[in-house]
Amino acid sequence: MQKIAMAIAAHPDDIEFLMAGTLALLKRAGYETHYMNLSTGNFGSISQDSQMTTQIRLKEAMKSAELLGANFHPPICDDFEIFYERELIKKLSGIIRKVQPAVILTHSPSDYMEDHMNTSRLAVTAAFVRGIPNYPTEYPAVSNYNCAIYHSLPHGLVEPLRQKVAPEIFIDTGSVQALKLKALQAHESQQTWLEDSQKMNSYIRAMEGFSERIGSMSNEFEHAEGWRRRLHLGFSEPDFDPLKDLGKAYLLNKTYIES
Ligand SMILES: [Zn+2]
Repeated sequence: MQKIAMAIAAHPDDIEFLMAGTLALLKRAGYETHYMNLSTGNFGSISQDSQMTTQIRLKEAMKSAELLGANFHPPICDDFEIFYERELIKKLSGIIRKVQPAVILTHSPSDYMEDHMNTSRLAVTAAFVRGIPNYPTEYPAVSNYNCAIYHSLPHGLVEPLRQKVAPEIFIDTGSVQALKLKALQAHESQQTWLEDSQKMNSYIRAMEGFSERIGSMSNEFEHAEGWRRRLHLGFSEPDFDPLKDLGKAYLLNKTYIES
């Protein structure tokens, strides 16, 4: 197995809220890491126009990826245009064939926002076709190597129909919390925007509160990120679970119901 991990999120700063701790720990465990937001985040401002917002957020995301020591991949569409459609699947699967990640970190399949759900679907299909020779992308098909997809938790820890979601796996992010904070702070333009538009009283506090909440669900960790490992069919051998490479930072949720 090649130790390569890739975070695929919808908007600039989603990785920092949901995945950056795990990505940083994978880096520390010897993985080459990759960072990609599908969207430019162009509507994430009330003071700048869409074009200017795109430029500002691109710089912020690149800075964050650099802080995390991850390879940066530029966005491929705009906000509210993350659709489950041919061109985006092709673009993303070309990138996956090139990078060949053994670990893909992405959004929850059900979440409060369609952009997140579509990102999850795009990442899943883009990985699924990695070894299909007649599916054309910029890069030729690769072998059907083992690839594990981990879905992060939905915003608010609930699905859109308000059912609670519990993680299958807890990752202790305490040792990289300071780095996660720094990476989030790189998204300077977002701190006031979220306060104005979504009443997140503090951008930073929101991320910390989320990781503390997941940490307390684990009954072990102060700060944690939560994951659900996708069914292996089409992706890997049944027990392929490379987040276990994180050793003591990895904890299975014993109450998670599995078939
Ligand atoms: Zn988002």
